[in-house]
Amino acid sequence: MSNLMHSSVLKQCAELIASADAVIIGAGAGLTAAAGINYTDTKVFANIFPGWVKKGFTMQYQLMGYPYWTQVEQWGYYTVHLDYVYYQQKSNALYQQLRNLVGEKDYFVMTSNVDEMFHKNGFDRANIYSPQGSYGKIQCTQPCSNQVWDIQPFFDNMQKALDPETQVLNNKAAVPRCPNCGGTMFVNVRIDGSFIEEPYEGEYQRMMSWLETNRDKKIVILEMGAGYNTPTVIRMPMENLTTMLPNSTLIRVNMDHAEVPEQIAHKSISIEGDIKSFIKELS
Ligand SMILES: [Zn+2]
Repeated sequence: MSNLMHSSVLKQCAELIASADAVIIGAGAGLTAAAGINYTDTKVFANIFPGWVKKGFTMQYQLMGYPYWTQVEQWGYYTVHLDYVYYQQKSNALYQQLRNLVGEKDYFVMTSNVDEMFHKNGFDRANIYSPQGSYGKIQCTQPCSNQVWDIQPFFDNMQKALDPETQVLNNKAAVPRCPNCGGTMFVNVRIDGSFIEEPYEGEYQRMMSWLETNRDKKIVILEMGAGYNTPTVIRMPMENLTTMLPNSTLIRVNMDHAEVPEQIAHKSISIEGDIKSFIKELS
C-alpha cells in the first residue's frame, strides 16, 4: 500500500493493532540489528573483539560459519561472542516497547533469532517458536544422538580458559566435547542438516494449536526485519499465514524489502523503513 513511514500509515497501523484480538510477531535478523546487535558493526567489533582484530577481522559477520580455525580459536571466539550477544543482552528498550505494544492481547512470536531476546523481555516462552535454535543450548556436531545440553557449564569452562589478549582458549581441555561420544560440539543453531531440531518441535506444536484456536480472530501479523537471506524461515510463513487467516492483516516492516506479493496486497501494509523508529512511533 504505502512505502513511506508516513504519519497516516502509522496511524493506520496503530489503529489496526489497537483493534486486533491477537498479534503474531514474525521477527528476522533485521530486528536484532534494530535492537543494537549488529553483526556488521566494525566499531563494536573493535571494542569487544580486540584479539580478533589483530588476526585481521573487522566484524562478527565474517566469522559466522568461518571454517579456517582450530578448536581453541573457534571456541575462544564463541566464548566472547556468546558472552556479548547472549549472556550480556538482557533488558532491551526496543523489545520492551514491542512487549508493551502487544499488551494484554493474545500473541505468538516466531523468530529466526537465536538470542532469546523475546523471552528475556517479557514474552512467554510458551508463546515463542524459534525454528533456528538457541544460543543457550549445545549439541554434538555429527550428531551422535538427538540430545542437546544447556550451554552454561560448557561456557563457564571456556571462560576460565579464555586468554584475554588473544581471545583464544589457552587450554584444549576447555573445548566442549560431546558427553556421549567425545566428539566435537557446536551451538544448537541451524547451520546445516546436522542441526538438532527436536527441542523446538514442542514450540512448533504450540504455535499450530494457537493458530487453530485463534484462526478466526482479528489478527495483526507484525513482521519485522525478515528479508531475502532466508525467506523460507519467517517471511514466507508470514505471507502464508496472511493468506490462511481470514481476518488477518500483515504489517511488513523492512529497511529494503517491504514489498508484498500481489495476492495479499489488499490485506497488507508495507513499511519501508527503520524498525526502531516504527516501534517508537507506535508506542
Ligand atoms: Zn556425540
